[in-house]
Amino acid sequence: MKGTVYQRWMKPEGGDSECKHKWSPEVKKAQHCEACGAQRVRADTWTLQHEVTRNGKRAFVTDTFRTKSEAQAALTESLALHAKGEQIEPSKLTVAVFLRDW
Ligand SMILES: [Zn+2]
Repeated sequence: MKGTVYQRWMKPEGGDSECKHKWSPEVKKAQHCEACGAQRVRADTWTLQHEVTRNGKRAFVTDTFRTKSEAQAALTESLALHAKGEQIEPSKLTVAVFLRDW
């Protein structure tokens, strides 16, 4: 069991709001949409994510932090707790759905 710490993508800035923004591998390098010129923007927060098994089903634990080191420390802690089989209070977990725009 392992996890990741990453910055989510925010809604692209500028460009055509009707555009679906197809981020091909080449476009991802350029960091803007080829069709409308919208800039890709990283969230200024860090998100941790790791997989857990709950009631025999796969689930993901996610939480958001201000800094990468905070997120990494929390990830290590969360992985250790889950490895011991302890349940983490649901209230301690924040599902960062509000940052997900696609
Ligand atoms: Zn676009």
